[in-house]
Amino acid sequence: MKFQEFLKKTKKFTLNILFPEKIKCIFCGADIDNFETRPYCDDCAKEDFFNVGNRCMFCDVKIKKHNIVCDFCGHNRKKFERAFCPLIYKDEAKNSLLRFKSDNARYLAYPFAKLIYKRIQEENIDIDIIIPVPMHEKSRRRRGYNQAELLAVELAKLMNCETKSNVVIKEKQTKDQKALNYRDRLKNLTNCFRLKDKEAIRNKNVLIIDDILTTGATMNEVAMTMQPYALHIYAAAVARDMVE
Ligand SMILES: [Zn+2]
Ligand SMILES: [Zn+2]
Repeated sequence: MKFQEFLKKTKKFTLNILFPEKIKCIFCGADIDNFETRPYCDDCAKEDFFNVGNRCMFCDVKIKKHNIVCDFCGHNRKKFERAFCPLIYKDEAKNSLLRFKSDNARYLAYPFAKLIYKRIQEENIDIDIIIPVPMHEKSRRRRGYNQAELLAVELAKLMNCETKSNVVIKEKQTKDQKALNYRDRLKNLTNCFRLKDKEAIRNKNVLIIDDILTTGATMNEVAMTMQPYALHIYAAAVARDMVE
């Protein structure tokens, strides 16, 4: 065995003991060589759950070639200027997001934040503060963590900016949005968020972060509370989902 190969094997062995998840593809679990450069395997890199190609300039959803805005944004302007979502919520991307959200796979916050970071780097925008979409206190206690907060902390480190929880709080417990359309989602969310700390975002470029962006209704409601005070408001999520 060559020395280099030996080092590589030793590194992998040590990593496997200390951080068993750090040598595995975040999507399919296959062994990978360099988690830091790319946290997924060659096979997954070829999958179609990456949100690339022509996308709506506001909500980052895939649209037909040569179009600029999706039909939805054409009729409902959002309170945030743009959204950045590196993945599409399907197949293995969906599975790993579900593990992150409900299965305590908190270590995924870092690789997911990195995917968002890469996506934002492609654009020429400045962010001063990252605000996670808040959870109701009761739901947070039940789950033990807010996945949006974990993402915000990791992304803030990568972007070298600030993050703060409880700037916006969720005061009302809401129904699961899954079965609702956009109109009902908005109704469900009405007056459920409250801006608690306007000084934290006054005249700042704000990025709201969540795990999944579906209709954008949640992000929109959170953005609405900050709109009178913030300079620019953007949104980011690990994955873009569509309402059927
Ligand atoms: Zn894979
Ligand atoms: Zn759109």
